[in-house]
Amino acid sequence: MIVNYMEEIVQNYLNSTLRTDPAYKDTCKCLSCTEDMMAKALNNLKPYYITTKKGEIFAEYSSLETQHQAEVITEVIKAIEFVSKNKKHQ
Ligand SMILES: [Zn+2]
Repeated sequence: MIVNYMEEIVQNYLNSTLRTDPAYKDTCKCLSCTEDMMAKALNNLKPYYITTKKGEIFAEYSSLETQHQAEVITEVIKAIEFVSKNKKHQ
């Protein structure tokens, strides 16, 4: 199967930021908002496709994560700020 590894990185970082950063404790974390955040961040990041077997561990790609960390952090923060100010629901 083909996987966009950038999705894994963004999802991990987004989840841990929303969960642990006190700056976002009042940010809506519903599925609709978090999916919007994912989509927005991913649109600004280059995809990185890999082929993988189901359940395979991504350890060999962890250097990629380190390499792109600064970019991912920037885009995830921008996406959180944007979506929390432009919620699609009440
Ligand atoms: Zn929401």
